[in-house]
Amino acid sequence: MNRRNRGIFYVLLFLAVGSHLAVVGASFTAWALLALQFLLYPQFAYFAAVRSEDQRKAEHRNQLLDGFWAGCWMAGLGFPLWISFTMFAGACLHMVVFYGLRGLPMVLGAMGLGAGMVALTGNWSGTHFDTDLRTTALSMVSLTLFFVTYALDGYRRAMYQHASEMKLRAQVEEIKALQARLYEQTMCDPLTGLFNRRHLEKALPSAIESAQAEGHELALLIVDIDHFKNVNDRYGHDVGDEVLKSVASIMQTAAQPEELVYRYGGEEFVILLPGCTADAAMRRAEQLRSQFLQTPLVLGEGAIHGTLSCGISVYPTHGANARELLRSADAALYRAKAKGRNRSEIFGASTVEFGRQATAETGQGQVR
Ligand code: GH3
Ligand code: MG
Ligand code: MG
Repeated sequence: MNRRNRGIFYVLLFLAVGSHLAVVGASFTAWALLALQFLLYPQFAYFAAVRSEDQRKAEHRNQLLDGFWAGCWMAGLGFPLWISFTMFAGACLHMVVFYGLRGLPMVLGAMGLGAGMVALTGNWSGTHFDTDLRTTALSMVSLTLFFVTYALDGYRRAMYQHASEMKLRAQVEEIKALQARLYEQTMCDPLTGLFNRRHLEKALPSAIESAQAEGHELALLIVDIDHFKNVNDRYGHDVGDEVLKSVASIMQTAAQPEELVYRYGGEEFVILLPGCTADAAMRRAEQLRSQFLQTPLVLGEGAIHGTLSCGISVYPTHGANARELLRSADAALYRAKAKGRNRSEIFGASTVEFGRQATAETGQGQVR
């Protein structure tokens, strides 16, 4: 119990017990003990608890002492039932709030010990049903206020907890949004908004796994803008960026829900087509190329008409894993470029020759 609550409750009890003492004409010693018990002792108990290293333990000790003294008062002064009930109910509530149901035997034990000791010293005064209306009313008021004080504490705690929960929930939402943004930043290309190569490296093996599990094919398209360097050189990097965005938007708009579009590198894009045969992939690539051709980038009074080259490979025919599949599509793209660009090629026997030749020429692992 905090100092304010303890203070309020004890002042009220002081008034109720004082009223009883006035009616029964108690001795000076009884009044002195009353002042000591209800006015001084609560302050002492509070400071002892605050200074203690383990405040909960100290408060527990105080509560048991409170019960013990209450037992002594009840038995020694022959309290009317109302006051005894007030003290008992208050102590029960207090102990249960702190210790749950096991607080009940504790308070009963402490009070019983106090009353028992008074009885042993031969000072048992018996029990009256009532003293007078004033004492009864004061007891009722003190009990009501005690309950209200407790309820108020409980209400404030609940409100505080609710506010903390709401704050925590908002923080969790914020963290989730940040995580999503972070994921987007690491997995998406900032210029086009498409997934990036890092995402492809994760997604392609699982797409292959699914294709294998479901026994269907998986087509992979590598799309490359022809002579893109010229666009940059002639119109500037910003215009080049616009062309990249335009290709991305065409691909994204045309993509079916199950298809995944990536910016693979500079002016190269990859499309994954689950369940797509080589012929269907070829149709899809040609569609894309003609759409790009028909969507020139308007620049003032002129327009840029770009062309695309596509390389196609299909799982499992052209590769058993991600690396092989990418390599095959890349080799097919190389053939499309070598044949004059602005076309689509599917990986095949002749492509391998191109690929080997290119590898030999560059001395690198890449086929192109
Ligand atoms: P090819 O037909 O053989 O593919 O020729 P190309 O000019 O398209 O290919 P090359 O590899 O010679 O040049 C690719 C160019 O793409 C070079 C590079 O400056 C440009 N590039 C790469 N990333 C970006 C980008 O984010 N924005 C712009 N504007 N240009 C880029
Ligand atoms: Mg290019
Ligand atoms: Mg390129």
